Amino acid sequence: MGNMLEAMFALQAIERQLADIRGQLSSSNAAVSVQQRRVDELHQQRQSLHDEVLAHQKDAGGVELELKAREEEVNKLRVALNSTKTNKEYAAALTQLNTLKADNSKLEDRALELMQEVDQTRAHVGQVEEQITEVEKLFEQIKRTSSEEITRLQAILDDLQAKRDSAAQAVPDKALKIFNRIAAIKDGDVMAGIEVLGKKPPYHYICGGCNMSLTAEHANALRTRDEIRFCDCCGRILYLEKETSPQKT
Ligand SMILES: [Zn+2]
Repeated sequence: MGNMLEAMFALQAIERQLADIRGQLSSSNAAVSVQQRRVDELHQQRQSLHDEVLAHQKDAGGVELELKAREEEVNKLRVALNSTKTNKEYAAALTQLNTLKADNSKLEDRALELMQEVDQTRAHVGQVEEQITEVEKLFEQIKRTSSEEITRLQAILDDLQAKRDSAAQAVPDKALKIFNRIAAIKDGDVMAGIEVLGKKPPYHYICGGCNMSLTAEHANALRTRDEIRFCDCCGRILYLEKETSPQKT
């Protein structure tokens, strides 16, 4: 490898580490966000269950009020029943009374049902609150470890960045621009070694980055020239390992 490609190769090693650390940093941040979302969801769930309890209580209150009014009516009917003068009047009042009582009994069932729903929903609120306690505890842990991890990774990142800056100085401007452009697209994976297949000529050459065939021209050129050549398929900058005794079959 010529000086320029050597310098780019060194830069590539740092660039890959940078990409790896950046990836770890973003996973650490993502872990915190995921847990934050979980906590938020549970709080929303608790709130809507709480609203449900209030709504059921309100409904039950309404039913109770209606029942009271109807019981007064029942009492009035009972009095009226006793003061009926004819059998026909008596029978009519009795029917009315029984219908009213039957309706009231339905209302009582409804009130009971609503109170049961209140109890069930309250129990559910309790469960969600337990979950919230657990998840918040976990969230605090994750935040703590993540913040330690993020600090650690950030220090490594700063250190690598400094190393990268210094390694970049050894790469000529024009080559560096090309390098940076590919690094941005390929997440730091800029260069690919040419792999030589076969025990004797004609050798077969492939790109170590994308495993596609390369013409012998690339390898021949790089044996003698320190220049930037791109893989025709993936666009990575090609280099030749120190070789060049073919090692693979
Ligand atoms: Zn390739």
